[in-house]
Amino acid sequence: MTETSPVIVVIEDDPAIRQFLRTGLGTHGFKVFEADKGQQGIIEAGIRKPDFIILDLGLPDMDGVEVIKVIRQWSAMPIIVLSARSTEQHKIEALDAGADDYLTKPFGLGELLARIRVAMRHSLSNPAQDQNGIFTTGALKVDLVKRQVFVEDEEIHLTPIQYRLLSVLIKNAGKVLTHHYLLKEVWGPSYKDNSHYLRIYMSQLRQKLEAEPAQPQYLLTESGIGYRLKF
Ligand code: CA
Repeated sequence: MTETSPVIVVIEDDPAIRQFLRTGLGTHGFKVFEADKGQQGIIEAGIRKPDFIILDLGLPDMDGVEVIKVIRQWSAMPIIVLSARSTEQHKIEALDAGADDYLTKPFGLGELLARIRVAMRHSLSNPAQDQNGIFTTGALKVDLVKRQVFVEDEEIHLTPIQYRLLSVLIKNAGKVLTHHYLLKEVWGPSYKDNSHYLRIYMSQLRQKLEAEPAQPQYLLTESGIGYRLKF
């Protein structure tokens, strides 16, 4: 471990999971600090200034969603939530409150490390585009300055709303975005319950950008939650 080891704060009341994270992440060069309650976790997040936080949603003293709300008042540090609950609603609340990603228990270390890599890329400035403002994932290339979209170097024409939806996904590439968030960002706050808009435009984007729209490679569905642009 060195001065530059990434720092993680784990907020989790289950000692077995804390031990799993401490050992697993420790061997991958992360410096792990732990809290078993929400209040203590908020304090740790303030003192340690971690590169990211792993947060259990079910804590003994407060709801994990409340922990996110408090931290988001002063920090944009990446937060990955852990959920044991079968209800999708709780994860959605966490994402809407500002969490970056989620994992459902039980999860593997490989899966967690992959999510951490994406979350850390997001904490850098403009992670998804190069210095010329060009975003690339697979055969999809978007020039965010000229607002041009290419698949396999062939230019694809999008309507203004299709482009806006794509650009919100690009700004958050790799991250799961809820239906509410996308509706709010693309159409505005009063449209946040019009999920059918989103379904229609996502289907149009897939028709234009995906080789096989029914089996998308880029515009991925997060069942019951929202969408994620593969990155
Ligand atoms: Ca718990």
